[in-house]
Amino acid sequence: MAHDPMEWIRDDLKNARGYSVLHAPEGTIKLDAMENPFGLPDSVRKRLAEEMSELSLNRYPDAQAKDLRDAASGIFGVPSGRLFFGNGSDEILLNLFLATKGTIVTPEPTFSMYRIIAKSVERKFRGFPLNPDYSFDPDSLSTVLSGEKPGILVLASPNNPTGVAYPMEKMLQAAKIARQFGFVTLLDEAYYPFHGETSLNAPGAEDVLVLRTFSKMGLAGLRLGFLVAPEELVSLLDVLRLPYNMDSMTQRAAVILLKEVYPLLEKQVQEIRRLREELYSGMASIDGISPVASRANFILFRVRGISPSDLFLKLFHKGVLVRDVSDHHPLLEGTLRVTVGTEEENRIFLNALREGVARDT
Ligand code: PMP
Repeated sequence: MAHDPMEWIRDDLKNARGYSVLHAPEGTIKLDAMENPFGLPDSVRKRLAEEMSELSLNRYPDAQAKDLRDAASGIFGVPSGRLFFGNGSDEILLNLFLATKGTIVTPEPTFSMYRIIAKSVERKFRGFPLNPDYSFDPDSLSTVLSGEKPGILVLASPNNPTGVAYPMEKMLQAAKIARQFGFVTLLDEAYYPFHGETSLNAPGAEDVLVLRTFSKMGLAGLRLGFLVAPEELVSLLDVLRLPYNMDSMTQRAAVILLKEVYPLLEKQVQEIRRLREELYSGMASIDGISPVASRANFILFRVRGISPSDLFLKLFHKGVLVRDVSDHHPLLEGTLRVTVGTEEENRIFLNALREGVARDT
């Protein structure tokens, strides 16, 4: 008799929810995933195509990603031995959570993958609430940490999906408290480019792990992230890392982009920051919409007079895809999240939003 496949599946996975990604139909204005809306110019695309054509795809990639390591070390001012690369920063979280023990603690609402990855590797996860205005209060940490086995404190700043950045002194204070309880602190700086303040090389943050991604500044399709950590930890993580996790195309493209295109990406980031402020003002001027001031490339907003799921659908039918995060956490009730688009995309979104919340007369 054939086996029931469910017999082979871990019980805790049977009713678990993974990270959901909606398919965006062709032509949709895609403001759901914190992507850079500008894309790369034709000259860069051509250059990348030439580089790709020279790769020996019959060979395995460089397992140590040496060229990429050297290029990133130069740009970010970090010794190359302290860099650990992953197929997106998600993969780094997976390796890190696999390699360590104790509880994963984080203030919520935050990036949902912390919880999902912790659960997937059967790690204990403990979320505790941010303040209602989404600020973070390190004083509340001692009580939370004292009841848990020492593991990792994760702080995303700017945070997703709130867009709020925590002051550096609060994060350093949190890292200090974490240290007292035997926890290591991981600062997820995915949205760092849109904020500009980093804990990398900051005094008092020497033992803090810093996570970065190339996704938000314009290279989400490459799938490339990195962790800055003490060399001993990088070596330990290497034990678990699958040998060729960084493919040849990603490695070569990233080297070219870092060496030749980085200033252009930084310019695009500056433009996105300007557009963010414009978008915020536009949203704040709409009755029934309360945007949260953001230091990232997206804006969380609360809606009144209509349910977020109805508004999401109205926007979707007008060709604009945002993210409905209203059921992700009690503090997110009534909220949606929109990514900053081009000037034209933001204008179309604002018009759709205005019409979406307008009362039928
Ligand atoms: N950290 C945060 C805070 C994020 O919001 C995201 C993506 N939404 C990631 C990490 C993962 O990014 P990636 O895997 O594309 O590097």
